[in-house]
Amino acid sequence: MSNESNETKTWTGSCHCGAVTFELDATDELMSKPMACNCSMCGRSGAWMAFVPEESFRVLSGRDELRDYQFGKRHIHHVFCPTCGLKPYSWGENPDGGGTTFAVNLRCVDGIDLQKLEPSWYDGAAL
Ligand SMILES: [Zn+2]
Repeated sequence: MSNESNETKTWTGSCHCGAVTFELDATDELMSKPMACNCSMCGRSGAWMAFVPEESFRVLSGRDELRDYQFGKRHIHHVFCPTCGLKPYSWGENPDGGGTTFAVNLRCVDGIDLQKLEPSWYDGAAL
């Protein structure tokens, strides 16, 4: 018997204009419990994020179109589409040397029912 929610599947997503498309491998569970954050960036953008390692995330098109925005300690690359302004994901190097982590904005992923998500809040504003 397989438990569907623990099965890894491939999800697709894009910015609004479609210039940037991507896919990621993640379980239903990961995709249903995003992190919401109240820092100066996430509080404004409203991104609800699922975190995946670099081997689980692929940009299919538009990588060269993305603009990069950094602030504060500049650990995280907040990339956005210059045409439609959306922020499909951000990424950063793990401080412990464990590679790159991608924070995928679930609002830009196809087939996600936002009303069913159960975000957990992270107090980024307190950092
Ligand atoms: Zn776009």
